[in-house]
Amino acid sequence: MHSHRDSSPSPQPDHLSEQWGRAPSQLPASEGLGRRLQRFFARSLRILPKGVVRIFASPYIAGETLEEGVETARRIHRQRRLLSTLDVLGEDVARMEDVEAYHREYLQLIDQIAELPYANISIKLSALGQLIDEEDCIRRTEDILAHAARAEKFVRLDMEDSSTTDSTLRIYRILREKGYDNVGVVLQSRLYRTKDDVEALKPLKPNVRLCIGIYREPATVAMQDKDEMKHHMLELLRTMWENGQHVALATHEEWCIREALRIAEEMHKPTEEIEVQMLLGVPRNSLQQELIDRGITVRLYVPYGRQWYAYSMRRLENNPEVLHSILKSLSHGIFHSGEN
Ligand SMILES: Cc1cc2nc3c(=O)[nH]c(=O)nc-3n(C[C@H](O)[C@H](O)[C@H](O)COP(=O)(O)OP(=O)(O)OC[C@H]3O[C@@H](n4cnc5c(N)ncnc54)[C@H](O)[C@@H]3O)c2cc1C
Repeated sequence: MHSHRDSSPSPQPDHLSEQWGRAPSQLPASEGLGRRLQRFFARSLRILPKGVVRIFASPYIAGETLEEGVETARRIHRQRRLLSTLDVLGEDVARMEDVEAYHREYLQLIDQIAELPYANISIKLSALGQLIDEEDCIRRTEDILAHAARAEKFVRLDMEDSSTTDSTLRIYRILREKGYDNVGVVLQSRLYRTKDDVEALKPLKPNVRLCIGIYREPATVAMQDKDEMKHHMLELLRTMWENGQHVALATHEEWCIREALRIAEEMHKPTEEIEVQMLLGVPRNSLQQELIDRGITVRLYVPYGRQWYAYSMRRLENNPEVLHSILKSLSHGIFHSGEN
C-alpha cells in the first residue's frame, strides 16, 4: 500500500486548510452539528469490508513492510524535504511472542534508518508489553534506546489512552534517570492532568511532542471540546518554550500553527528551533512547504505494518471530511469510469 498524496512532486491544493484554517470563533455555529454528523457517518465505516477501508486508509499508511516504510521516508525527504518519524503499526499486544517480534522490528528499523539523518522512530510501549509486564517493557525500551544511541537516533514514546499515561511517564523518567537523552515523550492537551505533568516534568526539560490526543476520553479526565483542547495546547506550548524545552507541535490545524508562530515571534524564538509534526497522508502540502521555506522543521509520522486497520479506523473516524472524500471518490468513479 503506497501513499499517493505525499508522492506528488508538486504541492497539492490544500482545500482542507482553506476550509478549516480559521480560528474557532470564526466558524459558523451550524458547523458543530455538521461535524458531529460527519463523524457519526465516519464511525459507521466499521461496517465496511476491510478491503474497502484499506483503499481509503492507503494515503495514511506507508505500506506493510519495513522496506516500504523506509522508502516512504526517503521519498518524502527527496521530493519535499520532509523529515520522518517511522512507526511500526501495532499496539496493546497481549502475547510475549508478539512483544518479541515488535522489539526485533524496532531494532531492525533503527538499523535501516541509521544512514538517514532525516528519520527517527516512534514506539508504542503497549507493543513492548507495557500492559503485561512493565519491568520487562522498561528493559526492552532501554535496549532499543541503547541501540538507537549507537546509531545517533532519537526515539519518541507515543502516548496512548489515559489509562497508560502514568506508566508511560514513569518509564520515561526511569529511562532519563538511566542517562538516556535520545528519548522524548508525548503529551495530550485534552487531558486535564497535562498541565500538572508539564510542571512536574520541567526539571527534566523533556523533548515533547504536543498534540490534542486521539483517544476519546471521559469528561472526568478530559476536555470534550476540540477548540478548548487546541487553546490549551497553545498554552502548554508557551509554558514549555518558556522552560527552554524542545516541543514538536503535532497538529493539522492551520490557525493553531499560525498562532504558535506568533507566540514564537513574541518570544524571539529562532525559527530553526520550531518543529511541526503532521501525519502522512493528511493533505497539508502547501502549508508544509511554506513552513519548510521559513526554516521550520516539518516532520511526518510515517506508519507502516500489517496491523494497519486499528490505526486507520482511528484516523478515518477522527477526520470529519472523510465522508466528503469518500463521496468524491465514489462520484469520480461513477462519472469517470468510462474514460479508461
Ligand atoms: C505527528 C503526530 C503524532 C501524533 N501522536 C499522537 C500520540 O502519540 N498520541 C495521541 O493520542 N495522538 C497523537 N496524534 C494525534 C493527535 O493527537 C490528533 O488526534 C490529530 O492530530 C488530530 O488533531 P488536530 O490537532 O490535527 O486537530 P483536528 O481538529 O482533528 O484536525 C484539524 C484539521 O485537520 C484535518 N484532519 C485531521 N486528521 C485528518 C486526517 N486523518 N485526514 C484528513 N484530514 C485530517 C481535520 O479534518 C481538520 O480540518 C498525533 C498527531 C500527529 C500529527
